[in-house]
Amino acid sequence: MDILISGASVAGPALALYLNRSGHRVTVVERAPALREGGYSVDFRGEAHMAVLRALGILADVEHHQTHMGDMSYVNESGKKMASVPGDLFAGDVEILRGDLARILYDATKDRTEYVFGDSITSLAQDADGVTVTFERGASRRFDLVVGADGLHSNVRSLAFDAPESAVTSYLGLYCAVFTLDNYLGLDHTGQLYSTPGKTVGIYSARNNTEAKAMFYFGSPPLDHDRRDVTRQKELLAEAYRGVGWETPTLLRKMWQADDFYFDSTSQVHLDSWSRGRVVLIGDAACCPSPLSGMGTGLALVGAHVLAGELAAANGDHRTAFARYEQEVRAYATGCQKSAVGVSKFMVPENRLMAWFMNQNYKIMPYLPWKGVIAKSVRKTASAITLKDYGLSRPAGTAPRPRPSGRAS
Ligand SMILES: Cc1cc2nc3c(=O)[nH]c(=O)nc-3n(C[C@H](O)[C@H](O)[C@H](O)COP(=O)(O)OP(=O)(O)OC[C@H]3O[C@@H](n4cnc5c(N)ncnc54)[C@H](O)[C@@H]3O)c2cc1C
Repeated sequence: MDILISGASVAGPALALYLNRSGHRVTVVERAPALREGGYSVDFRGEAHMAVLRALGILADVEHHQTHMGDMSYVNESGKKMASVPGDLFAGDVEILRGDLARILYDATKDRTEYVFGDSITSLAQDADGVTVTFERGASRRFDLVVGADGLHSNVRSLAFDAPESAVTSYLGLYCAVFTLDNYLGLDHTGQLYSTPGKTVGIYSARNNTEAKAMFYFGSPPLDHDRRDVTRQKELLAEAYRGVGWETPTLLRKMWQADDFYFDSTSQVHLDSWSRGRVVLIGDAACCPSPLSGMGTGLALVGAHVLAGELAAANGDHRTAFARYEQEVRAYATGCQKSAVGVSKFMVPENRLMAWFMNQNYKIMPYLPWKGVIAKSVRKTASAITLKDYGLSRPAGTAPRPRPSGRAS
């Protein structure tokens, strides 16, 4: 089949890798002019995540790019260490920068996938045999199927589902921003976090200490802004953190040079159905659990595995495949979404008392029995799906041929 995927981040290229192996012709359209390599670290934990990394054939690459982060410190306004967040509390089996993962997936697919950067779908017209797609820049084309892997603010979802974004997303109360800067504090596989009521800000070293990531989480009512206007987003962040101490003024000064600035709300997507006819959604577009869950990237990979697998199992019958894909993944996605609810209170203390309480907690965390309970519960959520082996783990043509019946091996 000719399959169009909108979005070249994590879910889109992962799906393309599987679909290439089934022999489909895949086009990926990405609105950004080039691969977007920003973002902070993402974790994979538990059997389901690891199984998909192995099936995709990228586990060795991902391990090669591991962040190897140690403990993070909570500091006070003058930079004095107040408490330590144990690295093994939140780290998964393997942790990698989102941008490195996007690059690995892109490199693994670029020879067999047509990538179109700097374009976006403007309309989708379905009929019995396919979908006619028009684009902002390119000529209109026909596809058998269209996949929306275009994130929380999915364009495909807006075009094909009769649901405005406000009706299918729920905001969890925080905004988050991330950008790359120089490792000017000389951090060695570690980071520092500083909280004031309603705001957390931090910096940690990345790519073997050759650079650093600044991250911000702040409470706010929903902000009305143009998501394509990065300058305005930077202004919003600067306004939100005006007067905040510690390294914040330096981080904000360096923000203006960052060309990979990421800014978004912590929101979830809740849809009654993930497909409409020949159009289907995966990753954040279908079921974003929000950055607060720490599960979004693993969930995107699991979705890609199951969708491609069910398409292969149903011999291309998209109705059957889409229904089975949703049946397999929905409960898992709901579990990932539930794990994010309530987390904002711990990411960003609402008042000084809560900030003090969190610091005390982190100080004694290594000695508390519930450290293990927290780590186990995150792992349980991430592992709460048993993935089928759809036979897509090897490139097409290299799978062992079935043995002729009646012959002993
Ligand atoms: C640059 C970047 C940085 C990120 N940083 C973080 C982070 O620091 N923390 C965090 O928790 N999550 C971050 N995320 C989100 C995280 O990648 C996802 O939550 C998760 O990995 C699921 O991925 P996804 O592929 O479903 O969606 P996303 O990663 O959101 O990818 C969606 C892709 O679709 C593209 N797109 C959007 N609209 C259109 C359109 N109209 N036409 C074509 N393409 C379109 C986007 O440019 C993007 O490449 C980031 C995403 C991006 C793109």
